[in-house]
Amino acid sequence: MSVEQKRRALITGASSGIGKATALAFAKAGIDVALVSRSVDKLRAVCEAVSHTGVEAKAYEVDLACLTQVQEKMQAIALDFGDIDILVNNAGMGYTAALSETPLADWQRVIDLNLTSVFQCIMGILPRMRERGTGTIINITSIAGKQAFPDWGAYSVSKAGLMTLSQTLAQEERTHGIRITAICPGAVNTELWDTETVHANFDRSKMLTPEIVAQSILHAVSLPQQAVIDELTIMPRAGAL
Ligand code: NDP
Repeated sequence: MSVEQKRRALITGASSGIGKATALAFAKAGIDVALVSRSVDKLRAVCEAVSHTGVEAKAYEVDLACLTQVQEKMQAIALDFGDIDILVNNAGMGYTAALSETPLADWQRVIDLNLTSVFQCIMGILPRMRERGTGTIINITSIAGKQAFPDWGAYSVSKAGLMTLSQTLAQEERTHGIRITAICPGAVNTELWDTETVHANFDRSKMLTPEIVAQSILHAVSLPQQAVIDELTIMPRAGAL
């Protein structure tokens, strides 16, 4: 691949699930990857797994819940790794509880990570994309951001907010050469379903795989620059589980 075609991506939440699968798919496609999450050992294992592809892969330990530091940490990564062509805002948490039983601290935690940290990641990377007049930003939202499900209130609100953030940003940035894509998956079989904040008993064999979602993300970033997928909903054939 020529130097002109070489692209660099920053992927948040790249230590597992959709983010990890996206890192592997990007590396296979020749895209350099800067990997972000709290678990640097897991990120290094992903770097190791793509070492044979010849792309540059580097791990960066960042807790995206520390909101006041996120913007400057993203800027520091871009300085260290090189200008970011593709930002994949994937890190997020699942959370289930009826709204009537959702403590304020839990609500805040979900909104902080799933919505506000994405805003801050974008603010860290967008100024250079604007200066360069090019860039692709992918936000991983959810079908729950478009459709209400009982017991998923705080999560749905965070993802609906992210949908609107994506739409607004797309309108504001298209004249600056920057394109924004919201990827809205239905249920994906990842560790999210094993976390202590998620209580749901769905048939995991019917879910999408992270690799399927990663292929859609790769497709969105591989389109010619004059084209953009504004929003892509990808569901298990079985529908909303
Ligand atoms: P995983 O639990 O497998 O991955 C979540 C990722 O987010 C991990 O890499 C984790 O890394 C990272 N992360 C969590 N908290 C933080 C934090 N404070 N700072 C930095 N990184 C953090 O889940 P998925 O792959 O399923 O989820 C990825 C995205 O996809 C999420 O935004 C989720 O809402 C969305 N999604 C998932 C669906 C599903 O059914 N699984 C459906 C629709 C959307 P670490 O723990 O190392 O920090």
